[in-house]
Amino acid sequence: MSDRLRRFLAILVLNALALLSAASAQEQSDSTFTVHVVQRGENLFRIALQYDLFAEQVAIANGITDSNSITVGQRLIIPLVTAGLEQQLTHSVAAGETLASIAAAYSRSESELMALNDLESADAIYIGQELVIVAGGTEPEVSPLEIQPTAGAESSGSIAITPPAFGNGARHSFARFGETVDAFVHTVKSGDTLFEISLRYDQTVETLVKANNLLDPGVLSVGQKLIIPGIQLPRLAHDLPAVVEAFTIAPLVLETGRSARIELLTSEPASLNGRFLNQELRVITRDEGKRHNIIVGVPMFTDKAIYPLTLTMHYGVDASETIAANLQVIGGGYGYQTITINDSELLAPAIEEAEIALLIEQTSEFTPERSWNNSLSLPAAAAMNAVFGTLRSYNGSEYNRYHHGVDFAGAPGTSVLAAADGQVTVVDRLHIRGLTTVIDHGWGVFTLYAHQQDTLVQPGDMVTSGQVIGTIGSTGRSTGPHLHWEVWLNGVNVDPMQWVQQVFP
Ligand SMILES: [Zn+2]
Repeated sequence: MSDRLRRFLAILVLNALALLSAASAQEQSDSTFTVHVVQRGENLFRIALQYDLFAEQVAIANGITDSNSITVGQRLIIPLVTAGLEQQLTHSVAAGETLASIAAAYSRSESELMALNDLESADAIYIGQELVIVAGGTEPEVSPLEIQPTAGAESSGSIAITPPAFGNGARHSFARFGETVDAFVHTVKSGDTLFEISLRYDQTVETLVKANNLLDPGVLSVGQKLIIPGIQLPRLAHDLPAVVEAFTIAPLVLETGRSARIELLTSEPASLNGRFLNQELRVITRDEGKRHNIIVGVPMFTDKAIYPLTLTMHYGVDASETIAANLQVIGGGYGYQTITINDSELLAPAIEEAEIALLIEQTSEFTPERSWNNSLSLPAAAAMNAVFGTLRSYNGSEYNRYHHGVDFAGAPGTSVLAAADGQVTVVDRLHIRGLTTVIDHGWGVFTLYAHQQDTLVQPGDMVTSGQVIGTIGSTGRSTGPHLHWEVWLNGVNVDPMQWVQQVFP
């Protein structure tokens, strides 16, 4: 090996290690980026230092090959490494709850919660106490990165890198000469099959077998890391308009049935409108016209594909600028369920479609004031026994229906709790959902409580988080007493648990 090649490889290893540290820290957190405007006297090294990054990371994110080429006023994309790798989840103790009921609601044990919260005994909890359910900030384990020079590395300048084994559905960057290769890594969970994983990411089983050199595709082990090729991260013009001070999309790759947030900061008051998935976006503008938030719900049956996002800002006397990016939508990783029932009357698609159409209409209202400022709290102190999004086939049909909410098993009469402050907009008896309450939380966010036995509220009532609004029952199309809980965002039905685990916007 020549000295030149050896030096070249050494630099590549350093770059790759720098990328590795960033990539591993992104594990279990949303990948986001922000925009830095180059100031007089700054160089790439100093800028990177401000964001706790290596200069190479900033260079690669912006396609910069000559670190001396940056100019004052230039806008650089800064790949952010979000602090707090696993978000802390807390629960505010409500009247009537016990440590046992709270533990059951989050599928944890009493002793785990006692340890997490330094509780002497299970009776030591009090109403209003913020109990830690999931502790945040776990340090990631970093695996060594193997780099294998390929034949002809000197002449072509390319190397092959064996991707490090870590991460889950997170973004990882691997350096090749002069370019960035992004790969998604999926961590195999209990019950995953290669077929289901391939469906989620819209890949063939064969592609995954090849990408991961799998000898026996039938054998996956829990915790195994699979490289998912073909996931596209947003491509954005590097040179953002001068009026843009920061631009965030999180997560960078969207999932069917889940929510995403977009934030744009402008240096002067602006009005913003945007389009995504052939829809006009609802923009919330605050901070004297300089902060613009959008919360997007991706409908469940959105085709897995790449879609353009356009945002147009109007500002000053008559100025306007448009930002365009392409965002990819992948599957949400939902399971499948076959259901056989006899009463074909209840299956009449017209009944279900009419009910959904009504809910879309009711949850497409937009209250400009929001009444929540934290994550949603759970709507019952009862164990969750069905998750959102499971694709359903009824009596052998296609998997063209899905579970619109999360179910909580509870004895008839168990309290149903408002998930956040808001205003009751609907109390109604529906064919499928039975006695149903809808609460408007503002900014296009609604929660829905179905199959209730009794209701304690009326349309127009203002409610607070944790307030008892009804009781668990088995009204409507229900096989037994349970609470079916839904979240709707601008008329789009989305995964409620994302709203329990994350704070929007
Ligand atoms: Zn349900």
